[in-house]
Amino acid sequence: MTVIKFKPYTLSNYKKLPQIARLSKEQRFTIEVVGHVFPFKTNNYVVENLIDWDRAPDDPMYRLTFPQKGMLLTNHFDEMAEVLTNSSPRESIAETANKIRWQLNPHPAGQLEYNQPKFEDYHLQGVQHKYKETVLFFPSQGQLCHAFCSFCFRWPQFVGIEKLKISAGEVEPLIDYVRANKEITDILITGGDPLVMSAGRLRQHIEPVLNANIPHLATIRIGTKSLSYWPYRFVNDHDTDSLLRLFEEVPKRGKQLAIMAHFNHPKELSTDIVKDAIKRIRESGAQIRTQAPMLKHINDDSDTWVAMLREQVRLNMIPYYMFIVRDTGAQHHFGVPLVKAMEIYKDVFRRLPGLARTIRGPSMSFTHGKAQVMDIMERGGKKVIMLQLLQGRNPDWALRPFFAEYDEEAIWIDQLKPVDGKEKFFFEE
Ligand SMILES: *Cc1c(COP(=O)(O)O)cnc(C)c1O
Ligand code: SF4
Repeated sequence: MTVIKFKPYTLSNYKKLPQIARLSKEQRFTIEVVGHVFPFKTNNYVVENLIDWDRAPDDPMYRLTFPQKGMLLTNHFDEMAEVLTNSSPRESIAETANKIRWQLNPHPAGQLEYNQPKFEDYHLQGVQHKYKETVLFFPSQGQLCHAFCSFCFRWPQFVGIEKLKISAGEVEPLIDYVRANKEITDILITGGDPLVMSAGRLRQHIEPVLNANIPHLATIRIGTKSLSYWPYRFVNDHDTDSLLRLFEEVPKRGKQLAIMAHFNHPKELSTDIVKDAIKRIRESGAQIRTQAPMLKHINDDSDTWVAMLREQVRLNMIPYYMFIVRDTGAQHHFGVPLVKAMEIYKDVFRRLPGLARTIRGPSMSFTHGKAQVMDIMERGGKKVIMLQLLQGRNPDWALRPFFAEYDEEAIWIDQLKPVDGKEKFFFEE
């Protein structure tokens, strides 16, 4: 099969795309202004197969890929527009961009500070262990991604204002740690996108784990956007065969391999190549579980989710998480109010076959755990939002319901107030 050449596009070369000429002058200026604060990254597959250029700039895949005016607050947009229009020196453009970036909460949820485990006397680099069963591994060569989503907590790494604090070179310390902690059943290899690594590099991380033969380890998960944004990886890329051989070895050696695939819109499931890629991954013996944030302007309606989840199940994947956009970056642009997300989730759930109801309702990962919005209900004659923790810093917190005052605007848990005039939710006490 012919290998399709990968061509990345970023702020520095996107103007070469003939499609860009079809955008209005104002749209092109928007890309420049916003793209200087939130850089973007895409490739020839996304541009040619997923974006409907007849509908751009209103096409959802265009909105997901290229900078949008609303991703910056009006004052930030104007400030950035001004330095660019005045052809200011390079340094003052960079300075303005950085000043704006620091106002966009580049360090949500104290990711690292709280969750970096220790083994014997040393801190494990590139490892995060927050919930008993699952340890996260961030291999340093897997910190790139096929996109630079401005709602992703990794955006500060992509713009270079945060160092790759959470990246690891070697897998051996992790193996020692997992071997010593018998409650760990899952290693989640994450990034960025670990499948941007060559098959050979990935093997250097996975093979030693298999060789270690740790009885309590059940599953290796790999979080990825490649299935959606570069499905050739699994069909006819330069090292596809080695990658699929590696996948096959995992179940053969008695462990599960779970590909945690990020899909935002049914369009991403529509091409022949992505269907072929899914089939090949499944034939290797790996499972595919899907997850996505609910994004305003992209998928904040029931029909889009119903179509996407039905298609996922039809294509042999298992829906897993519906996330709430985190409190960082362009949250003000993409965030959906919790109440609205809950209404959409309910409607979606009721229209799905049982096999697609494996999707977990609106969930947010924050400092104390992973909270899921459960319902909007009446309590003592007042409307309230019911939530629960799916995972907690303390494992005993899981499934304990808690209540917040009804708030139609709130888009993140820190905007919610506990009921009955309490100061704190139980997990903050
Ligand atoms: C979601 C998450 C996990 C995995 O939790 P599961 O419920 O097992 O999917 C692990 N670590 C962190 C930090 C997470 O946010
Ligand atoms: S890891 Fe996922 S959310 Fe983050 S930039 Fe990559 S594709 Fe986007």
